[in-house]
Amino acid sequence: MSEQPEVLSGWGRTAPTAGRVRRNAGPDAVADLLRGAGPRGLIARGLGRSYGDAAQNAGGVVLDPLPAVIDEPAADGSVRVSAGTSLHDLMRFLLPRGRFVPVTPGTRYVTVGGAIGCDVHGKSHHVTGSFGDQVVSLDLVLPDGTARTVGPDRDPELYWATVGGMGLTGVIVSAVLRTIPVETGYLDVTTQRLSDLDAVLAEMAGSDDDFTYSVAWIDTEARGGALGRSVLSRGEHATREQLSGPAAVQPLAVPAPPRLAVPFAPPFGLVTRSTVRVFNEAWFRKAPRFREGEIQSISAFFHPLDGVAHWNRLYGPHGFLQYQFVVPEDRADVVRRILEQVSGDRHTTFLAVLKRFGPGGSGWLSFPSAGWTLAVDAPAGPGLIGLLDRLDEQVAAAGGRIYLAKDARVRPELMTTMYPRLPEFRELRERLDPDRRLQSDLSRRLDL
Ligand SMILES: Cc1cc2nc3c(=O)[nH]c(=O)nc-3n(C[C@H](O)[C@H](O)[C@H](O)COP(=O)(O)OP(=O)(O)OC[C@H]3O[C@@H](n4cnc5c(N)ncnc54)[C@H](O)[C@@H]3O)c2cc1C
Repeated sequence: MSEQPEVLSGWGRTAPTAGRVRRNAGPDAVADLLRGAGPRGLIARGLGRSYGDAAQNAGGVVLDPLPAVIDEPAADGSVRVSAGTSLHDLMRFLLPRGRFVPVTPGTRYVTVGGAIGCDVHGKSHHVTGSFGDQVVSLDLVLPDGTARTVGPDRDPELYWATVGGMGLTGVIVSAVLRTIPVETGYLDVTTQRLSDLDAVLAEMAGSDDDFTYSVAWIDTEARGGALGRSVLSRGEHATREQLSGPAAVQPLAVPAPPRLAVPFAPPFGLVTRSTVRVFNEAWFRKAPRFREGEIQSISAFFHPLDGVAHWNRLYGPHGFLQYQFVVPEDRADVVRRILEQVSGDRHTTFLAVLKRFGPGGSGWLSFPSAGWTLAVDAPAGPGLIGLLDRLDEQVAAAGGRIYLAKDARVRPELMTTMYPRLPEFRELRERLDPDRRLQSDLSRRLDL
């Protein structure tokens, strides 16, 4: 374990704190560390891609992920992996075998432990549910150091508290995941440019179910009649027959590591109102009014930002926040109101993505539930927190919630409204972990 505390932050780089980092701890060492945990406890960390303070622990211990271990897929396609395996490594292992993960978030640089801990969702939520819906079982080291295997059919209470449980029920050491068959490492993509919010909502509500993957990028600079103008991108895994040229020669090509990197955070953010305005305008204009049958690689379709390592540094020394909320499908009025407030805000500037979730899973603190989810990125700056506090009120009043994996600032008093099963979660932690051996900055901030 590092004797000197190391400063850690989430992807947004807004709330760094120092903890002692423990590397290369196998299951036995994890059990010992838990039994000997001090007053500030311990938290597992994946690749630190949650935006806020979920994977850091000021004054306590932070467990770094163990390296990837991936077994050969079983006859039914399920695969056992160590919790420290990244989805990047898993995809590179699975694709040559003609398999793929059913749920991938917008970056593949997340670990399986982190994907379960936050119950992440992808563009396929309306079809596949979230990550926790695709786990067969997982191996957990409990706060008292004992090992337990849980799954939807085996100790479902502990399983569904762990899925989305932000690392607070135990340390996941391995998991068995479902995978899907694919013929190629490419997607058959349909792109549509839509002139306003009503148009994109209607299109998604009317025909998302015809596609496995769907997401809309929203131009937050557009106002008035153009509010919510979007580029909607939907896709299916491409078949071999659909490929031509180099793709046809190597149909199961694996995603490459990043080719570029932002070496350090510039002294001022490069994501400003004027750069976002230029980017948004160009992106919208470049998109076709309607195009189908375009073949895109997995990286281009699912993880366009992964091509540039450390792109979060572009936001400058103060970092950025991502605000993601979900509201029920019949509360699109809240999406509109929030977009109006975001695009009318003088202090800051936003990049936004809209998805339509299918029915929510069973995770007690899982974020997804049926309805509209909007994620907006904004540089940290004056006025932002006040604005987001006002948005929280509207989201909570509409029966919605914000996503803990993205959060660094929500007020704790809203938590039980947004997460009605939080009291049960607290009770379970009281039983499982009365000494609070598992703790994080997030768990203390929100009294989880
Ligand atoms: C560019 C980008 C795009 C993203 N797109 C999406 C998206 O589309 N959908 C989505 O849902 N999320 C998205 N995210 C968020 C990201 O998927 C989640 O925050 C994910 O949990 C990060 O995984 P990680 O391995 O980095 O975990 P960390 O951020 O390190 O940790 C996240 C949580 O998991 C817990 N945890 C980690 N490992 C373990 C373990 N072994 N046992 C128990 N708990 C553990 C931690 O304690 C922490 O509470 C995105 C993030 C980025 C940066």
